[in-house]
Amino acid sequence: MNERVGLFGGSFDPIHFGHLISARSLAERLGFSRVVLIPCGRPPYKENVRLTSAEHRLAMVRLAVEGDPLFETSDLELQREGPSYTFDTVDEFRRRLGDSVDLFWLIGGDWLPELTTWYRVAELVHQVTIVTATRPGWTPPDEGMLAEVVGSEAARKLLSNCYLTPAIDISSTDNRARIAAGRSIRYLAPERVRSYIEQHRLYVSS
Ligand code: ATP
Repeated sequence: MNERVGLFGGSFDPIHFGHLISARSLAERLGFSRVVLIPCGRPPYKENVRLTSAEHRLAMVRLAVEGDPLFETSDLELQREGPSYTFDTVDEFRRRLGDSVDLFWLIGGDWLPELTTWYRVAELVHQVTIVTATRPGWTPPDEGMLAEVVGSEAARKLLSNCYLTPAIDISSTDNRARIAAGRSIRYLAPERVRSYIEQHRLYVSS
């Protein structure tokens, strides 16, 4: 069997246990040898959102997974100019890793309906297997709506690659709000990430 590598992109502003638990759960389920965490440079779908500097987000991702052999961190999207399109990122990983590695792109259930708006998604679905982490009660998007954009076979594949992962109700938005309100994010994010945020006084004003 080919080596299987999971690619997990996100703003990671800041990274939290929801990200790590769902990525590890998918990795175990699907037999990934590693998961590459890829903080995005300029997210095309969050254009009006101001992100914390690339340097801080990358440092926090690195600290979050330090010592865990499952995870790697890539600054590929941070080095690239312009919007961080998944299509370009996957293309680059394919070039670097070659054809003998099976690539998987991990997303949360909230992203699957949005996929139809992604840059070159009809090609992307053939370059990489998109895997969706879902939670109990999640409603899948309409197959016909996906099929209109990616074709019916790819739409069926997208829906069959949805996996229940532990429901961890943590978000970066909530963690930023907690910090801005003077509350703790202890036990919501790795301790090293919490200390880094405190040391650099990140997110103190929202
Ligand atoms: P924000 O609250 O700023 O929108 P976020 O917490 O959703 O951020 P992102 O960095 O935007 O985090 O998300 C990266 C990926 O992680 C997305 O695919 C998202 O669906 C997924 N994700 C985020 N939070 C969780 C969680 N608690 N459990 C599982 N997946 C998650």
